[in-house]
Amino acid sequence: VYNFSAGPSMLPEWVLERASSEMLCYGSSGQSVMEMSHRSSAFEQIIGDCEASLRRALSIPEGYRVLFLQGGASSQFAMVPLNLLTRSGKADYVITGQWAKKAWQQGRVYGECRVVASSEDRTYSYIPQVDPAQLDPAADYLHICYNNTIYGTTFSPRTLPVSGSVPLVADMSSSILSEPVDISRFGLIYAGAQKNMGPAGLTVVIIREDLIGHAMEKTPIMFDYKTHAGAGSMYNTPPTYAIYICKLVLDWLQGPMGGLEQMAQRNREKAELLYDYLDQSRLFSPTVQGEDRSLMNVPFVTGDPALDAAFVKEAEQAGLVNLKGHRSVGGMRASIYNAMPIEGVKKLVAFMQAFESDHR
Ligand code: PLP
Repeated sequence: VYNFSAGPSMLPEWVLERASSEMLCYGSSGQSVMEMSHRSSAFEQIIGDCEASLRRALSIPEGYRVLFLQGGASSQFAMVPLNLLTRSGKADYVITGQWAKKAWQQGRVYGECRVVASSEDRTYSYIPQVDPAQLDPAADYLHICYNNTIYGTTFSPRTLPVSGSVPLVADMSSSILSEPVDISRFGLIYAGAQKNMGPAGLTVVIIREDLIGHAMEKTPIMFDYKTHAGAGSMYNTPPTYAIYICKLVLDWLQGPMGGLEQMAQRNREKAELLYDYLDQSRLFSPTVQGEDRSLMNVPFVTGDPALDAAFVKEAEQAGLVNLKGHRSVGGMRASIYNAMPIEGVKKLVAFMQAFESDHR
């Protein structure tokens, strides 16, 4: 099937085949990666390769650390304030959806967290402008959710807030590795792996070194970035198998897929196919207009909940699964992450065209 799930989502067949061929015995180790000690030299090689590969793919500059953690992006909603909200005790948040709001709600527990812009007034269907004059120059950070998985909007280099010397913190769970980003514009990036990087269970943090080592006094040791940075992400047992699959995903991205630039080009082509069809359809309407449209998550509706449900059901029978929209938006959502081949999007559009001609 073509799986349009928002996450966990499709993995490249190339990766699954390789993992399958190595499932029982990794190299000459005589073991599955799942059975390996995280302290073994074979696993140290895997995690080292994974980090090196991620650094190469995203052109992560010197002065940034990469951490392989657990607890999902949701744990970062707490880890970020616990570690960063410690100079002025103030932070600014942009609310572009439920995840951004959850991050803000968690941040408020630890300090003075202001909302500086929000798109809640129109069901988060656009990216609000962030007026630099509105931002607190003394804030410990400015938090954004880069790509809004539920609503299908995204920041871009053009709409990214200019935060001056205030570190920009971004939840990139649903857009990391989909296109190049200038890492140097961010103080901290975090992402759950289960959309574009690998299976659930791994959370990646990319953090500027000067932001490490300032955690609040009662921060649990496991929630202190310094703990993990100081131990090479091996303070405790890391999610070893998820890290191994992440390494394979990066091998795929920079091998057969030709690198991040090519990946981005492919993602643009896939999204364009779908948006072009939606823009002229008389049955389906996209819920996001213009430049804020996500390349990864494409929500759309017919305006008739019964027809939406019929569409989702019939699509599933045709092998196009997980197209039901998030309950807060309704309708449909096609998540077309890196691993979704263009053929999947073509098949979806053809199916929608046929459904449209049957229901006009
Ligand atoms: N942030 C974004 C943008 C997401 O899409 C999600 C999950 O879908 C989360 C955070 C929550 O991630 P996790 O389930 O890894 O905690």
